[in-house]
Amino acid sequence: MTLRTLNSLGDLRGKKVLVRCDLNVPLDGAHITDDGRIRASLPTISRLRDAGARVIIISHLGRPEGTPEDRFSLAPAATRLGELLGESVVLAADTVGESARAATACMGDGDVVMLENVRFNAGETAKGQAEREVFAAELAALGDAFVSDGFGVVHRKQASVYELARDLPSAAGLLIEKELSVLERLTSSPDRPYTVVLGGSKVSDKLGVISHLLPRVDTILIGGGMLYTFLAAQGYSVGSSLLEVDQIETCRSYLAEAKELGVAIVLPEDIVVASRFSADADFVVVPADRIEETPFGHTGIGLDIGPAAAETFTAHIAASKTVFWNGPAGVFEMPAFANGTLRIATALANMSGFSVVGGGDSAAAVRTLGFADSDFGHIATGGGASLEFLEGKKLPGLEALGWQ
Ligand code: ADP
Ligand code: MG
Repeated sequence: MTLRTLNSLGDLRGKKVLVRCDLNVPLDGAHITDDGRIRASLPTISRLRDAGARVIIISHLGRPEGTPEDRFSLAPAATRLGELLGESVVLAADTVGESARAATACMGDGDVVMLENVRFNAGETAKGQAEREVFAAELAALGDAFVSDGFGVVHRKQASVYELARDLPSAAGLLIEKELSVLERLTSSPDRPYTVVLGGSKVSDKLGVISHLLPRVDTILIGGGMLYTFLAAQGYSVGSSLLEVDQIETCRSYLAEAKELGVAIVLPEDIVVASRFSADADFVVVPADRIEETPFGHTGIGLDIGPAAAETFTAHIAASKTVFWNGPAGVFEMPAFANGTLRIATALANMSGFSVVGGGDSAAAVRTLGFADSDFGHIATGGGASLEFLEGKKLPGLEALGWQ
């Protein structure tokens, strides 16, 4: 079966359509530092409004633990969505309670109501399916149809992603359709050379993708937090850098497998080592096998790839026809350690082939560094979901929409 799309829902005029978006935007207090995910949700919302639907938006923000917390309120997202739509968006004070029922009871065609953070309810992320089903049924009672458009969460078996899709007539929104077409282009027949750039901080999450990618790519460039586990696998000391000791053996086997397959795993030749994890820390650049040979000794932390590595990565990217990049090369939030990420983003923006940036922080990084969405072939809204797709895993949120 293939993905059910919006047309499969038929005439939506006057219908209440629940839409699962991923409006999990980065916040600095109440200020949204990157509204990319809200803008990415607009095509589906607009399409539904144009069709006369009454749009009820479901989203999470951050990781509240099943109870309401002010700092995780969707209020900033509701305000921003209202600005982008040119129409105010009502935010219910709860997700399925009295406020949500009242706000959704009196909607006119084309109106937009947002429910408060879906993760304020323990049922959303409950381990037990029964508990999720109970909560999904409460959500389903608010609408007539369900559109799943939160690409960033389709790899999660959560009530508003999975169970809800089975409770109501459901279909994928335009964002999910678009993200999938890009990922299929990456997995079916990418133009070669095909290079994957990996970084970020979720080391063990991301190591898994390497074994699946190895037979399918020409080059893997490794930066970010995971590079130190690879350096340790080569026998180097990494000071106080991010390290997953129990993954060292796995990294060693990837290096061996890559050699056998003729795939290049490129590790940075130099590293920016800081005295501590802080924006104003002292730092020096050293060869990757000398991380502990700085004035900071074994307390030094690798926070970015060095300039020589940035040059090498740039050359690999420039020679590629397809590049997928997930995960910043360093702690880009601190200007002193943003250079590697900036250089990689620049190389992707300058290449002539197909470039894809995936991941919440990676997308935020390129935008805060001043790049436009149009500088890249595509900016994916979900890093975890993209990686799991590339790993060949079945994504529950897509399976619930008929995808196989
Ligand atoms: P994405 O959201 O794009 O998938 P991740 O969430 O995995 O990326 O990682 C992003 C985070 O990784 C950033 O906040 C960045 O500061 C951090 N990071 C990158 N390099 C390092 C490093 N060497 N040490 C610690 N954190 C790092
Ligand atoms: Mg992230």
